Amino acid sequence: KNYTKEDIIRICKEQDVKFIRLQFVDIFGILKNVAVPVEQLEAVLNNEIMFDGSSIEGFVRIQESDMYLRPDLNTFTIFPWRPTPNKVARLICDVYLPDGTPFPGCPRGVLKKMLKKAEEMGFKFYVGPEIEFFLFLTDENGNPTLQTHDKGGYFDLAPVDLGEDARRDMVLTLEEMGFEIEASHHEVAPGQHEIDFKYDDALYTADNVVTFKLVVKTIAQRHGLHATFMPKPIFGINGSGMHTNMSLARVSDGKNAFLDPNDKLQLSKEAYYFIGGLMKHAREFALVTNPLVNSYKRLVPGYEAPVYIAWSPRNRSPLIRVPAKRGQATRVELRCPDPSANPYLAFAAVLAAGLDGIKNKIEPPEPIEENIFIMTDEERAKRGIGSLPGSLEEAIKEFENSQLMRETLGDHIFEKYLEAKKLEWDDYRTKVHQWEIDAYLTKY
Ligand code: GLN
Ligand code: MG
Ligand code: MG
Ligand code: MG
Repeated sequence: KNYTKEDIIRICKEQDVKFIRLQFVDIFGILKNVAVPVEQLEAVLNNEIMFDGSSIEGFVRIQESDMYLRPDLNTFTIFPWRPTPNKVARLICDVYLPDGTPFPGCPRGVLKKMLKKAEEMGFKFYVGPEIEFFLFLTDENGNPTLQTHDKGGYFDLAPVDLGEDARRDMVLTLEEMGFEIEASHHEVAPGQHEIDFKYDDALYTADNVVTFKLVVKTIAQRHGLHATFMPKPIFGINGSGMHTNMSLARVSDGKNAFLDPNDKLQLSKEAYYFIGGLMKHAREFALVTNPLVNSYKRLVPGYEAPVYIAWSPRNRSPLIRVPAKRGQATRVELRCPDPSANPYLAFAAVLAAGLDGIKNKIEPPEPIEENIFIMTDEERAKRGIGSLPGSLEEAIKEFENSQLMRETLGDHIFEKYLEAKKLEWDDYRTKVHQWEIDAYLTKY
């Protein structure tokens, strides 16, 4: 897909498109859109559409709320679930200031900037996510419950897997929109699913993550279900992750830069340094890859989610795994991100960490083959295995002191993001939770 303006005008005519949604995300990755009738298409394609950014989270700048939307033509797609004729299409946009400079509060712009830095170092960044989510039943008023509609487990087959119809519909819709689906299956927990789509340039993968969530939520609703990307909706069963598979390709020849056939694991120096960088900065980027109070309830032992900062070519328990595939598919899988993360910021943050590893030749420690979860604290300490932040509060402190995160996100987003996360933590910290009532009310 390499659309020109003319292509888009033609497709809109041929397909009877009536409305164009101009999409972008706020700093938390929440999708926003301005809908314009197709009569405005010329103006849209000439970057003339303005909107008032003052009510959008993380966007406000004093005396500067008029922003321009510049559509990325390659993101043009039609929503297959909307009525025909008078179809609805969308374009994902970059946000610009009236003076023609990129708005520093636009997360897509942050990722673009980071990708440019990678190119200057000679690399293109590819990302393939594995997104997990829950499907819950809705009650008679259409409100979500915490009841799942099935008792299925990992890779279970129908008829146990009653969410299969909904998931099938999601896959078909995504394919109609141009996604290449690689796999979809029931996950470990009841009502939990995973759909994997093909890796792409990190920018388009981030766009795809945002689109994916919209499609999954929309189709779930049509099946009377509520889809949630909340990382840990239910205590005692697995949470939902967004394992992030990453690779670098050399700009010079397009070849996978993580592959070295002569190494014992067939990994290049760059791959090792990239892992070293990820491990060094994991505590700093956690606030971006795992942004919610609830994110840290997933990162606990016993539910296939990472807790300790370690890597392994085989073992699935550590933070970083190198899947067995080699050749062009050589990649590093980071297992901490969850699907509540803003994908633009998350991919920018992990790329910054990995590239810092390459720049500074950060050797990763020895891979860990044993089960880290059954080691004692002393054993882990002896082997230098640290852990991810245990709470949003801890993640905030690490992020706040990170020069790398400030540089990567830019002052504007860094400060807005930090401020919002501090408020979120304070709100949570000062509320009285059900756990406290259960534990203390009658005892004291
Ligand atoms: N749900 C697990 C997580 O939180 C992953 C399970 C899996 O994909 N094997 O990361
Ligand atoms: Mg998977
Ligand atoms: Mg999975
Ligand atoms: Mg995985």
